[in-house]
Amino acid sequence: MSAAEASPRTWHDEPPRDCPRCPRLAQFRAENRTRFGDYFNAPVPSFGSPEARLLIVGLAPGLHGANKTGRPFTGDYAGELLYGTLKAQGLARGEYGARADDGFALIDCAITNAVRCVPPENKPLPAEIAQCRAFLGGQLAQMPNLKAILTLGRVAHDSVLTALGIAKKAHAFAHGATHDTGRLTLVASYHCSRYNTNTGVLTAEMFAKAVAAAKKAAGI
Ligand code: SF4
Repeated sequence: MSAAEASPRTWHDEPPRDCPRCPRLAQFRAENRTRFGDYFNAPVPSFGSPEARLLIVGLAPGLHGANKTGRPFTGDYAGELLYGTLKAQGLARGEYGARADDGFALIDCAITNAVRCVPPENKPLPAEIAQCRAFLGGQLAQMPNLKAILTLGRVAHDSVLTALGIAKKAHAFAHGATHDTGRLTLVASYHCSRYNTNTGVLTAEMFAKAVAAAKKAAGI
């Protein structure tokens, strides 16, 4: 059993359920609470243990995925690809059931999003990405064993770099690129969205390679 499984510390400084920092997203959240009363409809907390050596950072919750279930990447296509890949590479166990209570568990990795609230049309504004970086930075700071970060898409990649205080120019996003930033290694991948796989931008094989590179960089 890994340290991350043996000592399941919980995260602190998660955004409050009614986080007011992004007025547009707070408004959208309120509308969704009316439209989809049985959805989670709140900032989606990180999944996995802060003791993990690998962190995966996505963009934002999907309206009918994580915003519905309350767990990152859970309930939509991106989660099927992500969680299937993690399990195949020994980074997860259990049966992924597209629900937060499915018992599926991560092994030595954790998952969060650059933006915790679902944005209209999956497109957060730069000001919203900047606001939520306070929480991203807080998560990074409470991971004592963190060795590598897999960034899914340019927005997540750039936000992680900014949160770490690292110039973006020196570590520009490119699928499959590995960046040594000193204490941490960043591995970049196109986001595992249905759009990217449907258009051939990202294949399951390309994604598996990026996850394997991040796993190796984390020393797992
Ligand atoms: S996106 Fe982040 S900062 Fe903005 S309202 Fe949601 S939790 Fe707060």
